[in-house]
Amino acid sequence: MKKQSRYSERSLRQNIATNLVLGVLVLSVATLCLSPTEKTVETEGVGAEIYRFASGETQGVSLMFNVYWGTDEVYRILDVLQRYEAKATFFIGGCWADDNVDCLREIYASGHEIGNHGYFHKDHAKLSLVENQKEISDCNRFIELSLGVAPTLFAPPSGAYNDDMLTACKTLEMKTILWSRDTIDWRDKDA
Ligand SMILES: [Zn+2]
Repeated sequence: MKKQSRYSERSLRQNIATNLVLGVLVLSVATLCLSPTEKTVETEGVGAEIYRFASGETQGVSLMFNVYWGTDEVYRILDVLQRYEAKATFFIGGCWADDNVDCLREIYASGHEIGNHGYFHKDHAKLSLVENQKEISDCNRFIELSLGVAPTLFAPPSGAYNDDMLTACKTLEMKTILWSRDTIDWRDKDA
């Protein structure tokens, strides 16, 4: 088990204020990743990976949290986001959602965007096209059953992907979302 991280509100506020942030808050086996991108926009469309807005586009950051372990940090993050009137995209692991439907619904009810983080948090760079499609569509199916809407964005665990994964997203009419900043604060930073 990795040590749980403490992402301070002060640092979050500073990050948002300076438009520099993005981070990944990884907890335990799976991850609860806070990974904002400094700039991003959909320049490629369905099936292409997106890291950031095209240069010269809107100023700002996109915050993303990949959720696959626990709920305590999720609720704390929701509180902080609400306090600063910020919205984020939560990429949800299907297996996590299966155990935490109430928390998933709370995220959605709070007005945040819901994305797909795969069902079993696998290494998508090692999956075939069919395996990629199943992992992603299984997660989508569960989220749709829980919320009534299916995600259109997919963030692969650890950012690992291959051509089959990109093709899988394309066939599912989904976009692949990655990140340009990652705090990795669970690994080499204290509170
Ligand atoms: Zn993850």
